[in-house]
Amino acid sequence: MCFATLAMATDYDCWREDGDSVEVDAILAILAANADAARRTVRAAAGEVVFERECGCRRALDNAIITAPEAIDGSARERLAVVAGRVL
Ligand SMILES: [Zn+2]
Repeated sequence: MCFATLAMATDYDCWREDGDSVEVDAILAILAANADAARRTVRAAAGEVVFERECGCRRALDNAIITAPEAIDGSARERLAVVAGRVL
């Protein structure tokens, strides 16, 4: 598994025409609970990751940057080094 998305809802009132609106404090409480659930999920999933892979994802950046190398300044290289240092 090279990539995954974890999404959580905080409320369901945006599509409802009847019923009470959701209050901000309720949304924030659910947001905090979601953050805890996300941490637990990532912690549990991290132990299941298989690092061997045969897909091309690890080379996806090889041809992804179309900015001319001479146009990429040092601060951009430094800022992006964590995610794209190999190809910058
Ligand atoms: Zn992959």
